Amino acid sequence: MSTVIAFSNQKGGVGKTTSVVNIAAFCALAGKKTLVIDNDPQGNASSVLAERGSGTSIYDGGKPLKTLRHENLWVIPAGEDLIEQEARLSRKEGGHFVLRQAINALRSDFDLILIDCPPNLSWLPTNAFFAADQLVVPLQCEYYALEGLSQLLAFVDEQRSAGHTNIELAGILLTMFDSRHALARQVVEEVRQHFPTKAFASVIPRDVSLAAAPSHGQTILEHDPLSPGGLAYLAATKEFVNGLK
Ligand code: ADP
Ligand code: MG
Repeated sequence: MSTVIAFSNQKGGVGKTTSVVNIAAFCALAGKKTLVIDNDPQGNASSVLAERGSGTSIYDGGKPLKTLRHENLWVIPAGEDLIEQEARLSRKEGGHFVLRQAINALRSDFDLILIDCPPNLSWLPTNAFFAADQLVVPLQCEYYALEGLSQLLAFVDEQRSAGHTNIELAGILLTMFDSRHALARQVVEEVRQHFPTKAFASVIPRDVSLAAAPSHGQTILEHDPLSPGGLAYLAATKEFVNGLK
């Protein structure tokens, strides 16, 4: 049976998609049969891992496609319907549980299922929270990061208390760290103080290689695995996989 992990943060541009595609690539490299579900209508994970415009989203019956460059790595792309799903789910009875049903049918086929989420706390991420066993929160090392984090964790706690999900916080992954900035160092300290057992020891540095890889339709594994960003995601993946056992 697989472990299902939602990567979520209601803020945009914090490194969710970058974390999903790169951690997924390293998991696949380590021999885990890994599926990425693109749950963001922006489709950024799809443009790295899949052919353009391929298929429908998982909500409309989209099936896992094998990625071309990685053995063990599969993707269900966003599909053109995903932008409409927010509205469709809101009208549907049981609209919060559509993703859970679809994923449960795939659990026996994969070791790991990673869900990339859009930057909000609406129907699509809620579907991911209700489908997932674990939550990873990518957090950009900047001042407002912590404020958003408490909101997100409170929302997830509420859903758990209501009995909708058993999702647990697997970890907080600090991203885009720039050691030259005192503020970034401060944010790392603060997160480690508040969440001593939940902050990943690996911190992802700001690295141009990570930003450039998607423009080549690549993960950091093909683009520049030995870059600081590549090595940081490798280390984060080890922590992530060990933490799941
Ligand atoms: P999200 O999915 O949370 O919106 P992304 O993963 O798309 O965030 O990242 C936002 C932007 O920042 C993208 O252009 C991405 O390539 C870039 N980026 C992400 N992580 C890093 C990093 N560690 N160093 C440099 N650029 C990064
Ligand atoms: Mg994204």
